[in-house]
Amino acid sequence: VLAVQNVKSIGRGQYRLYQHSASRLPASDMIILERDLHHALSEGHLRLAFQPIFGVDLGKVVGAEALLRMVHPQRGMISPATFIPVAEESGLIVPIGQWVVDQGLAWLKRMDAQGHNELTLSFNVSARQLHAGGFVEALRRSLKVHDVPAERIILEMTENLMLNPEPAILEQFAALRALGCRLAIDDFGTGYSSLSYLQKLPFDIIKIDRSFVQGGPKDERHALLASAIIEMGHALGLSVTVEGIETSDQASRFIAMSADHLQGFHYARPQDGENFAHLLTVQPTQQSSPPTF
Ligand code: C2E
Ligand code: MG
Ligand code: MG
Ligand code: MG
Repeated sequence: VLAVQNVKSIGRGQYRLYQHSASRLPASDMIILERDLHHALSEGHLRLAFQPIFGVDLGKVVGAEALLRMVHPQRGMISPATFIPVAEESGLIVPIGQWVVDQGLAWLKRMDAQGHNELTLSFNVSARQLHAGGFVEALRRSLKVHDVPAERIILEMTENLMLNPEPAILEQFAALRALGCRLAIDDFGTGYSSLSYLQKLPFDIIKIDRSFVQGGPKDERHALLASAIIEMGHALGLSVTVEGIETSDQASRFIAMSADHLQGFHYARPQDGENFAHLLTVQPTQQSSPPTF
């Protein structure tokens, strides 16, 4: 039996069932958040933050991950952990994802103009965006409009997309790579991590989830697993990024394990786009503060 609040009219006599599981929010809160999200998109209340990605080989920041923010008129900044599930379930993630790509590419061009013209830019892509169709074409168009080579773009997806992917999804993975983009598996180790999909699917980068980092230096099991994932990734020809590096000790440990890229508050928190260039001119050891965005 459906509770009335679980069903929302989406117009023209259509109704959609909200499931609590996706965001752990009560259905009524999800409906309000969906309305607010619509409003945020149309009224310009979405923002992008950029978090630097440190390249171990070059010893400097080599790229950025675009992270979405919602500035709510009454509630202030709302975390993507709260609103992304609502955006996914409602389908709003499709126009929002397009907004993210356009804003991100425009920012990358501004960085180019300031002489930082080798940065890569990573976008998070939800399964829903690929299932909707048209993602590859839209990305191709945006890259053309903004005059950004696809080689500078990394698309991050979580493991749930890798589990029994449909042919239509596999075709999009192939098309994205044919375009020149690289594909990354985000939050690796938190889902149904399977060695078999790493071998079968056309991925370039593994991003080890921060839960493997923040177990603390005495957490032998996490350290062993992380080290094994890095070795396995390298054996398969993949590059390995470690997320959630918060201390210089953690950075040293993962550098010793031959991780390729490091990301985390130790280097910098996600930044306002206009502050980012500043990070490129200071040493990583000076980058642990201030919290900005
Ligand atoms: P993610 O893609 O795994 O992004 C990394 C998250 O870890 C970010 O949270 C970042 O702020 C946080 N983080 C980075 N370094 C550290 C650290 O050293 N310590 C800790 N404790 N956290 C760190 P954020 O920005 O809240 O984003 C959460 C998630 O929301 C993202 O996880 C991603 O899955 C999703 N998301 C963000 N932007 C987008 C978007 O444009 N599209 C889609 N589909 N999802 C997005
Ligand atoms: Mg990510
Ligand atoms: Mg992640
Ligand atoms: Mg994530």
